[in-house]
Amino acid sequence: MSTIKIDRLVKRWGDFTAVDDISFETGEAEFVALLGPSGCGKSTTLRLIAGLEEPSAGRIVLDNRDLTNVVAAKRNLSMVFQSYALFPHLNVADNILFGLSVRRVPRAEQRKRLEETARLLGLTPLLERKPSQLSGGQQQRVALGRALISQTKVCLLDEPLSNLDAKLRAEMRNEIRSLQRRLGITMIFVTHDQTEAMSMADRVILMNQGKVEQAGPPSELYERPASTFVAGFIGVPPMNVLDLDERGAVAGTDLVVAAEAGAGLQLGIRPEHVELAPEGLPADVETSEYFGADSIVACRAGDQRINLRVPGPPTLDAGARVHLRLPPEALHFFDRQTTLRRD
Ligand code: ATP
Repeated sequence: MSTIKIDRLVKRWGDFTAVDDISFETGEAEFVALLGPSGCGKSTTLRLIAGLEEPSAGRIVLDNRDLTNVVAAKRNLSMVFQSYALFPHLNVADNILFGLSVRRVPRAEQRKRLEETARLLGLTPLLERKPSQLSGGQQQRVALGRALISQTKVCLLDEPLSNLDAKLRAEMRNEIRSLQRRLGITMIFVTHDQTEAMSMADRVILMNQGKVEQAGPPSELYERPASTFVAGFIGVPPMNVLDLDERGAVAGTDLVVAAEAGAGLQLGIRPEHVELAPEGLPADVETSEYFGADSIVACRAGDQRINLRVPGPPTLDAGARVHLRLPPEALHFFDRQTTLRRD
């Protein structure tokens, strides 16, 4: 089993900083998701770990071995790319075996590992096919097979599911996760899709503009967001973040929610925690969206937008006046200036 430690990693191109002093450590056989909006530096971080980019500062340590100045081929890590990077002229078997042939692993050992890997991934009947004769999901499995056959203890994956349709993505999420558990390897998985990160990872590292905003188990990011960025990124739809006035009331209303002067604060509440009640915060329904099991109703209270989640189909028409209860135990507070959580 292996762990990777990232220590104050920086990557600059000219005066642009793509990765800005980030540190984290994986546990053994842990599944870690690097999550964040487009351009936040996730892929660059993964490429730095892989040795495909050179850091401007900082260190990468695998177990007790400093990899920072080790070339990519000698790092003993495997990688799966978004594009799969399969060779079109090679069949599935040779695509999977490619890395082993390059490393001159003996033929008998190659055959044995190919059989095992193909069985693991359900590719045995497809070994003679060319990539063009495979579905997207099958190509994805071949790319995964090529990484897994190398038997490295750490596997890096860069948006490996983004070319698949929604149903296949969901299937592959489970497949990759159970493979990772079964093989006991550490996986670092880059994604901009929070559902993917939240459903697969033991730990999520949420990045924003080259920095780590919060790192922790998915439930921690959901239940105790460390900043308004995290609050506004995690959750579909995300947490409501409302301005408070100097009285501690929701701006534009008379509902006081904070005992102390609230002008420097913002209030966070998840849509599922907002309740319809006979009295409370007066709000007007603007739109409703039906998702099957529940609906999201968007309301306006004073000058603030607030979403609430109600079970089943929407029963409230646009323009209806409702009253919302914001249960005190469900409230989060953030400092407006620093954007950080206040406890
Ligand atoms: P995405 O989800 O869109 O792939 P990302 O979070 O993976 O985004 P990166 O690919 O790591 O983002 O890029 C981070 C920033 O660094 C981006 O602004 C990108 O334009 C910039 N960048 C990436 N590679 C280079 C390069 N070779 N030269 C200059 N800037 C680069």
